[in-house]
Amino acid sequence: MFDRITDRLTAVFKKLTGRGRLTEANVSDALREVRVALLEADVNLAVVKVFLEGVRENALGEAVLGSLTPGQQFIGVVQRELNSLLARNTGEFNLPVPATVMLVGLQGSGKTTTAAKLARWYSKHGDRRSLLAACDVQRPAAREQLEILAGHVEAESFPEKFTADAVGTALAALRQADRRNLDLTVVDTAGRLQIDEPLMAELAEMKGKLRPQAVFLVVDAASGQEALGIAEAFHGRLGLDGVVVSRLDGDARGGCILSIAGGLGVPIRFVGTGETPNDLEPFDPDRLSRRILGLGDVVGLVEKARDAFDARQAERLAERAVKGGFDMEDFAEQLRGIQKMGRMADILALVPGMRQFAQGADEEGLDRGMKRAAAIMDSMTPYERRHPSVIDGSRRRRIAAGSGTTTADVNRLLAQYRSMAKAFNGLSGKKGRRMMQRLGLDPDRLPELPPEALR
Ligand code: GDP
Ligand code: MG
Repeated sequence: MFDRITDRLTAVFKKLTGRGRLTEANVSDALREVRVALLEADVNLAVVKVFLEGVRENALGEAVLGSLTPGQQFIGVVQRELNSLLARNTGEFNLPVPATVMLVGLQGSGKTTTAAKLARWYSKHGDRRSLLAACDVQRPAAREQLEILAGHVEAESFPEKFTADAVGTALAALRQADRRNLDLTVVDTAGRLQIDEPLMAELAEMKGKLRPQAVFLVVDAASGQEALGIAEAFHGRLGLDGVVVSRLDGDARGGCILSIAGGLGVPIRFVGTGETPNDLEPFDPDRLSRRILGLGDVVGLVEKARDAFDARQAERLAERAVKGGFDMEDFAEQLRGIQKMGRMADILALVPGMRQFAQGADEEGLDRGMKRAAAIMDSMTPYERRHPSVIDGSRRRRIAAGSGTTTADVNRLLAQYRSMAKAFNGLSGKKGRRMMQRLGLDPDRLPELPPEALR
């Protein structure tokens, strides 16, 4: 996902890297290219304008900061602006217990799938038991689809038999949830291929009678900026409380999510990243902006790592992220873990600094690259791995000779390490605490490490 926009932006940043500092002229050039990248990704024009204005102001305001290279400086500004664009309207979101959530959207946008995902999410986070109410009476098969999905997520489903009255079914579902003492009722509704008045009237009547705690619009990420117009129409008629962007795992270019975040005035609450009930994530602006900019998704990486590493390694990684001090030993451990994690190109795209490494290489080539990296690190002394900054020219030559590689290979690996270390060490503080919590670890009680782990 986001491959094109990410590549485009990376090229813009690269061009700036050779320059001495940010000036009116080179910022203007870069902004023109960022504009093309965003429009190509199908981001709404008004959103693009506001975004670029913010970047221009901040980039020129920063021109005095001499220590960073202009490329890095510009990435920093773009990321902050992207964050603030995506984070517009977000904030704490808590559903009361019990609650009713109504899902609306065009046909095929992912409503029924999202109903099951929400049941799974709230069962995992809050131990709720859900009722999935099939109120899409346009397609009789919709009821069966929801019943099957409900079975997968251990939720109840309603009604048992098809009825043609959507509003009546929804009301009966609420009574059923009440009788069965269920905490969450997700109401799945009908969609059309385009917005039409009878559909809107039915949904408005349903909302009036159900009084749901939240009405969520489900939009398909592949619909680009068209999603903004669709969302405005639903919002104008129904009053939305949130948006779920589905199919972010597909060939989404970014236009849908950026246009909605920047243009709608309603928070994005969740994103769908696959077809199974587990593929739902709370919307996280920081994580998304890092992905769009190709900076690597550290949280996603650690989550994947948790499945592949043993628990102690994962804890250690999380501790590094919180306390700082990510060194080459951690890097080596990461690479070993990556090899266990499945399709390497997919994993590497998440790792800061590894995106280029992953591009255009086949699995076999990647495997060779990983083996070479492992050989280089094996040729370092433990002290060098703990303190990579001591690796000067003569050490590099020794390491290259010892591992049967070249100093250019050693340099490349060190650069990859530095970029990963920067991402990990940048997670100390509040962000790290959030990440620990997401991993189910208690940030106030860091795991005790055995002395040999610290060497
Ligand atoms: P509805 O018509 O709005 O109820 O849409 P459905 O929930 O039936 O979804 C339509 C299709 O999109 C189904 O084949 C789903 O499996 C698929 N789908 C839904 N959400 C996602 C997602 O986040 N990622 C992917 N890859 N497919 C999805
Ligand atoms: Mg459906």
